[in-house]
Amino acid sequence: MSDGTGRTRSGAPDPGAPERIVELKGLEVHFPIRVGASDTLLRRQHGVVRAVDGIDLYLARGEVLGLVGESGSGKTTTARVVVKLTKQTGGTMLLDGQDVSELWGVKELRAYRRRVQMIFQDPYETLNPKHTIREFVSEPLLVNKIGTPAEREAKVITALEAAGLRPGADFAARYPHELSGGQRQRVVIAGALVMDPEVIVADEPVSMLDVSIRTELLRLMLDLRAERGLTYLFITHDLSLAWVIADRIAVMYLGKIMELGPADKVINDPHNPYTQALVSVSPTPTPPTAGERAQRTILVGETPDAAHIPSGCRFHPRCPYAFDRCRVEEPPLFDVGGGQSAACWLAEGGGSLPAVAPMRSGLAAGPVTELSPAATGTAAALAAGRGDAE
Ligand code: SF4
Repeated sequence: MSDGTGRTRSGAPDPGAPERIVELKGLEVHFPIRVGASDTLLRRQHGVVRAVDGIDLYLARGEVLGLVGESGSGKTTTARVVVKLTKQTGGTMLLDGQDVSELWGVKELRAYRRRVQMIFQDPYETLNPKHTIREFVSEPLLVNKIGTPAEREAKVITALEAAGLRPGADFAARYPHELSGGQRQRVVIAGALVMDPEVIVADEPVSMLDVSIRTELLRLMLDLRAERGLTYLFITHDLSLAWVIADRIAVMYLGKIMELGPADKVINDPHNPYTQALVSVSPTPTPPTAGERAQRTILVGETPDAAHIPSGCRFHPRCPYAFDRCRVEEPPLFDVGGGQSAACWLAEGGGSLPAVAPMRSGLAAGPVTELSPAATGTAAALAAGRGDAE
C-alpha cells in the first residue's frame, strides 16, 4: 500500500502507484534581494525572497493537478520552474524519472520543451499583433527545425482545429486583432499543442476571459486531455476553478504546500485552516443564512511577504487555531488518509480541525471532470471579490 510517495511502507516501488511524469523534490527558488547596481556587481545581498521554499509535488501522467494560492504564494514561480523558464536554487526536478534539474543547454531545452509546454494567462500579451496566427503557431516548429514547410503547415492547421478554430486555414491567415478574447486564447492553446507535448502548464489560462467563455475553454482542455493523453499543471488563484477541472488540488501559501489531495476531499474535508478559510468564503448560489455567515472563516491581516516569512508555521499570524507550538515549529505535511495530506499540527496523526463547520460551499459537488456552469460562474465573483489575481 502506497503512502503517497509512490513506495510501499517497506520502501519498495508501489506497483499500483500512478506513473509520475513530472516530480519536484525539495524544490526551492530563493531570489537574492539586491539594492542597486553596486550590489549586483559585488554580488552583495540583503536577504532572500523565499518564493518557493522546499516543496515536494508530482504530476501523475494524464491528471490535472490544480495548484492554488493567493498572489505571492509561489505558484507561478513553481510553474516557471516546471517549464524551465526559472532556475531552481535547490532541490531536483525529474521528467519521466530522469533528473532534468541541470538541463540548461540550448539543445537540451529545445528537446525538453517539445514535451512540456506552457499556456500563459494573457493572450493579448502573448500574441504579437504584427504576426499572423500562422506565424505565431508555427514559430516553435521553426525554432526547433521540425518538418518541411508543407508538414509545418499541416501541423498548424491541425493544432488550430484541435483548439476549436475551424476552418484552421481561415484562422491561420488572420491577425490577433481580428479575433475575440476567447479565440485568442484558443490560438495560444494551439501554439502549445503544435509541439505535441505530454505536459501543459497552464498559468491562469481563463482568468482574463468572460465567464461565458471560461466554461468552453475548460471543457476544451479536458477534451484535449482525453484525446491526446495530456497532463496539466493548472495554476489558479481561484479554488472554484480548480474544483471543476482538477483531479487533485495542491494549496500553496508563502512558498509551501499547505494541503494536497483529491479535489473532492480537499474541498469537502479540508485539514488545513488556510484551505478551510478559502473554501468557507466561496460564494453560494443563494445568499447565505446568518448561521452560515457565522461559520465562515474570514482571514485577518495581509499575507506576509516572502522576504519575511513568519517563524514556525508560516500561516500562524492569520490562523484562527494557532497555539504555542505553531509559533516555533513548522509542521510537515501529515498524511490524513485517502491520498490527502496537510501541513498543520492539528493534522498530526490524521487529526481533524476543531469545530469544522458544515460549510455550505458554493462550489458544486459532483465529479471533478463534470464542468459546472454554476461553479465557473461563481469563480468570477470570487475573483472580483478578492481582487487578488496574480
Ligand atoms: Fe494554524 Fe497551527 Fe495548523 Fe499552522 S500549524 S495552520 S498555525 S493550527
